[in-house]
Amino acid sequence: MNGAKVELRGLRRNFAGTLALDGLDLTIEPGELIAFLGPSGCGKTTALRCVAGFEQPDEGAVLVDDKDITRVPANKRDAGMVFQSYSLFPNLSIKDNVAFGLRVRKVAAAKRHARAQELLELIGLPHIGERFPHQLSGGQQQRVALARALALEPRVLLLDEPLSALDAKVRISLRDEIRRLQLSLGITTIFVTHDQEEALSMADRVAVLRAGRLEQVADPATLYDRPATPFVAEFVGTMNRIPGRVSGDKVTVLGQLLPVDGEVPATPDVEVLVRPEAVQVTPDAEAIGMVLVSSFRGSTARLRIQLGDTEVLADVPGHDTTRLAPGTRVRVSLVERPVLVSAAAPQAQSA
Ligand code: ATP
Repeated sequence: MNGAKVELRGLRRNFAGTLALDGLDLTIEPGELIAFLGPSGCGKTTALRCVAGFEQPDEGAVLVDDKDITRVPANKRDAGMVFQSYSLFPNLSIKDNVAFGLRVRKVAAAKRHARAQELLELIGLPHIGERFPHQLSGGQQQRVALARALALEPRVLLLDEPLSALDAKVRISLRDEIRRLQLSLGITTIFVTHDQEEALSMADRVAVLRAGRLEQVADPATLYDRPATPFVAEFVGTMNRIPGRVSGDKVTVLGQLLPVDGEVPATPDVEVLVRPEAVQVTPDAEAIGMVLVSSFRGSTARLRIQLGDTEVLADVPGHDTTRLAPGTRVRVSLVERPVLVSAAAPQAQSA
């Protein structure tokens, strides 16, 4: 199976005054798994539905392998789709569910049963063909939905929050399962999620959407380490916002002078955006910092530290929690490297 190239060109979609897509441009390479990530209402599902053919853009085009398919009906498109709710047909056996699309295309019974069995083996559930959906767990049903989506050997796979309804453990194992299948089939895949960890752990590239537009598209490490905008920095991972003061291309923050990464705001008062793992913590009885809360996570612990008027989150090695227990006075510093800054939020008016 060969994945297709999918292009979204200037997609715009207005729902009675709500601009769901506001000129979305994106090219998805053959065989790539791309995650659409963003807050609720940013247009992820609408964009996916435009690729599936369930939604028509008001403006713009969807191209598959350079062919404009914007007006091609959904059932004539070469795409398989999986939804958040498993949406299996309750009165059909699992085998018949998987073979449904083949039956619609009038594939002979023997052939479609053989293909269904092959797909059930592919998803690691070879013995459940005679069962019915209600006899399966949520995770198993979603695997079957995936097999059904793959039955017609589509060149594009569309997944709309497929793991959101599952519990944490199943979700993580299915993540790996979907990725393994996607890589082995080489199928171009769009995965809609609002869960940043899911997006970062599965995707070749993550497209962050905001108000119907593309905010940034990049591989997970770049998105995390070099977010293009404060919005991406905040949305992906956890960020501290620590007051700082810019002069030239440097910023003074927590008594340190660090180079500014990227754009320097016009006003000198800024917020410095720093990941918890870039915050260093040392016990110091004379220091003004104090550990408020320590949450043990195994290999690391996250500390919430009071520092004057600011609270700072810091990730430290898990075995450090005893010497950094709540109430401990600490000195806080930042890892010496360029930092992102954004203009400081206006101060609330005091009465
Ligand atoms: P979520 O994560 O909540 O599903 P999303 O990023 O997938 O959000 P969309 O479902 O694409 O966002 O919706 C984008 C905007 O368009 C929202 O404001 C939504 O309410 C609106 N919208 C989507 N579909 C319709 C529709 N059929 N009719 C009216 N408004 C719609």
